[in-house]
Amino acid sequence: MAGEPQDDCLFCKIVAGTIPATIVRETDTTVAFRDINPQAPTHVLVIPKAHHRDAAALAAAAPELAADVLRETQAVADQEKLESYRIVFNTGSGAGQTVWHAHAHVLGGRGLEWPPG
Ligand code: 5GP
Ligand code: ZN
Repeated sequence: MAGEPQDDCLFCKIVAGTIPATIVRETDTTVAFRDINPQAPTHVLVIPKAHHRDAAALAAAAPELAADVLRETQAVADQEKLESYRIVFNTGSGAGQTVWHAHAHVLGGRGLEWPPG
């Protein structure tokens, strides 16, 4: 069910603490941790603690929680002292989504090309 922890979900396990992660921020509703395969000097993932399969499902089911995630991306950027950064929500396997628990990538600390690849 949307929002409930999923036994087979990597990010639910990070929320539960059964898989370790380098956590940089935590709130009542979100966790932010460093990506294991960073694509930029700062590459942090911000996730809702509740399980939703992607950003669109999160926004539809729990808009206030989606706003919490967005608010936390700015908090991560402030903490990492990023003047500019990019927020990415890969949505669907064709866009590179590999983990089916909504997450915002916060990327910064280097030049970021536009348009992205
Ligand atoms: P996606 O490809 O779904 O947009 O993003 C998933 C991200 O999760 C990838 O950037 C990948 O490097 C990261 N990732 C996968 N497994 C782990 C893990 O066990 N720990 C951490 N910290 N990041 C992970
Ligand atoms: Zn999950």
